[in-house]
Amino acid sequence: MGSNSRKIILVCEICLNRNYTLTKSTLTQKERLEVKKFCSTCNQHTLHKETR
Ligand SMILES: [Zn+2]
Repeated sequence: MGSNSRKIILVCEICLNRNYTLTKSTLTQKERLEVKKFCSTCNQHTLHKETR
């Protein structure tokens, strides 16, 4: 892993569960990530937002 990528956590917008972790490149993605992903707590697809 180079210095241009970092680990981020995706948090469900509704229940605030930390459901996903991923690595993103700080070179290509400067914006905050917002992804629709399945949340097992909400039992539906919800918006997940990047957190640190
Ligand atoms: Zn949720």
